[in-house]
Amino acid sequence: MKKYSPDIGKVHAILTDEFNRHKMPVVELIQIQTNDPFKVLITTILSARTKDETTARVAKKLFSKVKNVNDFRKLSIVEIEQLIYPAGFYHEKAKKLKSLPDILQENFNGIIPQTVEELIELPGVGRKTANLVVAIAFNKPAICVDVHVHRINNRLGYLSTKNPLETEMTLRKHLPEKYWITYNSCFVSFGQNTCKPINPLCNQCPIARYCARIDVKSRE
Ligand code: SF4
Repeated sequence: MKKYSPDIGKVHAILTDEFNRHKMPVVELIQIQTNDPFKVLITTILSARTKDETTARVAKKLFSKVKNVNDFRKLSIVEIEQLIYPAGFYHEKAKKLKSLPDILQENFNGIIPQTVEELIELPGVGRKTANLVVAIAFNKPAICVDVHVHRINNRLGYLSTKNPLETEMTLRKHLPEKYWITYNSCFVSFGQNTCKPINPLCNQCPIARYCARIDVKSRE
């Protein structure tokens, strides 16, 4: 439910400008470099709980051996672990990547699906990853909601939601579709650098005039 109505078009435009001044996130970079949904999917799985610099490094190492999903069949779990170390949760991720070819073949004829509902059937793919893959790899309307998108939209007063799933569903109802694909990118870098979880830098904030600062205690 909306509590307050900031001009979300202006907020999006300002944050997009900010985003363009920062380093491009690794998943977008892989899309531009490869235009390959398989590599975008794998990079997105690797990026969970992992810094972008580390993800970029392990993705490069992994893709030197793995060119398509069936290449995971030729590797043991230990070999995959060695390739993706030190990505966060690399043990679990290696097991999931090992099982990917079989599940993809059984359920989707070996082809990476293009909807959130289908993608979340794959190992290691939650709604956040699925939305990002749909938006970035397939350029289709999807809203990837992570902790930054959830937190900042609630601080702005654009939404009043309890968790990222509720935020995603509310944004799907209220946010104009033209903003969906890029919504995550601009809020993530803004959330890491300015509207941080603790002590947000409100006095340096380019969208302060649009923000209701809901539940914001520190105003540096
Ligand atoms: S004014 Fe503060 S709380 Fe609002 S968006 Fe900016 S940094 Fe975040």
